[in-house]
Amino acid sequence: MKWGLVGASTIASEHMIGAIRAQSGHTVEAVLSSSAERGRAFATRNGIPHAFTDLDALLARPEIGAVYISTTNEKHFSQAMAAFAAGKHVLCEKPLALSVDDAAKMVEAARSAGLVFAANHHLRCAGAHLAIRQLIAEGRLGRILSMRVFHAVSLPEHLRGWRIDNRDAGGGVIADITVHDADTVRFHLGEDPKTVVAQAVSSGLGEGVEDSVMSVWTMPSGIMVQSHESFTHPYAGSGIEVHGTEGSLFAQGVMTQRPTGTITMTDKDGTVQLNYERHDVYGYGLKAFNRAVAGHGRPAADGVDGLKSLAVAMAVARSAHEGRAVDVDYKGY
Ligand code: NDP
Repeated sequence: MKWGLVGASTIASEHMIGAIRAQSGHTVEAVLSSSAERGRAFATRNGIPHAFTDLDALLARPEIGAVYISTTNEKHFSQAMAAFAAGKHVLCEKPLALSVDDAAKMVEAARSAGLVFAANHHLRCAGAHLAIRQLIAEGRLGRILSMRVFHAVSLPEHLRGWRIDNRDAGGGVIADITVHDADTVRFHLGEDPKTVVAQAVSSGLGEGVEDSVMSVWTMPSGIMVQSHESFTHPYAGSGIEVHGTEGSLFAQGVMTQRPTGTITMTDKDGTVQLNYERHDVYGYGLKAFNRAVAGHGRPAADGVDGLKSLAVAMAVARSAHEGRAVDVDYKGY
């Protein structure tokens, strides 16, 4: 399948172009940029045959079967809707949109056109998280009581643009990282956060947007989840802990874009380190996407998963803003 890239972005050049090309029979045909100069330079640098500044012109190319959308967040909605109207499958970056209502329109547009729609939630594609989920599902930790997510990192210098100063472009750490953590928690626990309580601050980088947030989520089963996201923590490291009646799991360095990190489990017999398969996380997601396009199975994270992670993030943002507990509104999904 030939792909069109919507957005001359860092993630496309650092991860996704390579991951697309690593899939047998898949090539990158074109890139869209709002700047002709940046688009041409991006295409040349990455060996892409065509560069466009007009989305409709890119979408009019019949040989393009799917688009990968990785523009700034406020553009995802209109670009995905145009792609569905043109009959293209869509792999879209998170957050899917700036509102859950818009995400719902995207889900419905894909459904009625019979097209594959996926959110690029890479963490659920990581070997470490697949292993953690299996351990929980097998009951090795007993009844799950709580989960803690540590995702306070240092935003790399080259990404300190719209994320830290542009609310209209979907900036702020909640839109950037809380969505990933919401998806990961949903993936592990198989249920959707019901109520959230949050506080957010700017701790050195955010200008008009939050760069740090802590929140507590209550799941329908009663499991409690604590989540911490930040752009300003150079040495905190990332991780996830899952605590159950029969054991506790500690995974360090696993909230990343690379197949890294260690997982240990402690129970009545002591502490053991767990092995897991280390593969390219984005390649794993693309493989599932391409299988879905071929009519087999579903994407790793589909449009509804993307809508739900956004709904949790929106509730976290609202709770932090209003200083009260907020029920997550999944708009009936
Ligand atoms: P970038 O800032 O690199 O790119 C976003 C847009 O900014 C591009 O589409 C481009 O616009 C514009 N841009 C890029 N470079 C420049 C420049 N030098 N000067 C001016 N404008 C520029 O963003 P990211 O790649 O970090 O993120 C893009 C999307 O991907 C976001 O939605 C983000 O949330 C998501 N993301 C997801 C990750 C994941 O693991 N799932 C990881 C990282 C990001 P144009 O296209 O018009 O040229």
